[in-house]
Amino acid sequence: MTRPPLLDVTDLTKHYPLKRGLLGRNAGAVKAVDGVSFTIGDGETVALVGESGCGKSTVARTVMRLIEPTSGSIKLEGRDITRLGKAEMRPFRRQMQIVFQDPFAALNPRMRAGDSIGEILFVHGMRKRRDRDERVAELFQQVGLQPDQIKNFPHQFSGGQRQRVCIARALSVRPKLIIGDEPVSALDVSIQAQVINLLMDLQQQNGVSYLFIAHDLAVVEHISHRVAVMYLGRIVEFADKHTLFADPRHPYTQALLAAVPVPDPTVKRARQVLQGDVPSPIKPPPGCPFHTRCPRVMDRCKVDVPKTRTVADGHTVACHLYETT
Ligand code: SF4
Repeated sequence: MTRPPLLDVTDLTKHYPLKRGLLGRNAGAVKAVDGVSFTIGDGETVALVGESGCGKSTVARTVMRLIEPTSGSIKLEGRDITRLGKAEMRPFRRQMQIVFQDPFAALNPRMRAGDSIGEILFVHGMRKRRDRDERVAELFQQVGLQPDQIKNFPHQFSGGQRQRVCIARALSVRPKLIIGDEPVSALDVSIQAQVINLLMDLQQQNGVSYLFIAHDLAVVEHISHRVAVMYLGRIVEFADKHTLFADPRHPYTQALLAAVPVPDPTVKRARQVLQGDVPSPIKPPPGCPFHTRCPRVMDRCKVDVPKTRTVADGHTVACHLYETT
């Protein structure tokens, strides 16, 4: 029997109902996530990319069950966790940890870094103080922090070091999946590279998987194995990173990639500037949600929603241009 993937998300939706007037009449819904499906294997990094407001952070929080999905399913190692109660979720929480964008906000400013990590270990059953201290020291070493920093408060670290503390905290309970919600976006570029390399080293050592949320495609190209491109709550293209960066098919992916600076001045990339703003998820355009900005829009794009089609092995696209493939 084949083993199920570590994470299997199927047709996930998160709609926020809108109410109007004193009587709270139903006035539609914000479709933050609208039918998202993907899997993550052991030791794999899947990136979710797209502009702000495309729903990628909502996917991350819904997968973690920090917010409740409207419909769809989330399976961890084959076990459906979509509707589990608080107590039933506890063992699964240990297997999934999240690292947020702002490490300062994620840490208690009045708690020493070592105690922040020790607290998680205690909650997850490590009752002996000496065991916790040993594990904290081991984690500090793993993430490249000095033993004498264990007693530091968050403000005594640099931004990159604080994110290392958050990564150590996420690793403390030996999770199988770490969700990084823009984990390097708030850091200086030089520090970003250090933290990305640290995450990749930890994956090599521990076999941990990542769901990596980002808008910086250069970072995504470096860290991920597969990439899902999101637009207005949907995945519009999904492929392994080499295919996606070499042969993007969806006009939105093509526009995102065209906007990435190329470090080699001899390489010229056709500039393709996206016109207009992302439409409101309260009233998404009919047909293809990208049609209001698409340089290749056709008449049918304004009425028909494109289905997701497989254009090559492991490469899917939701666009009418590929419907005969
Ligand atoms: Fe553009 Fe039409 Fe494809 Fe949408 S379906 S991305 S509007 S060509």
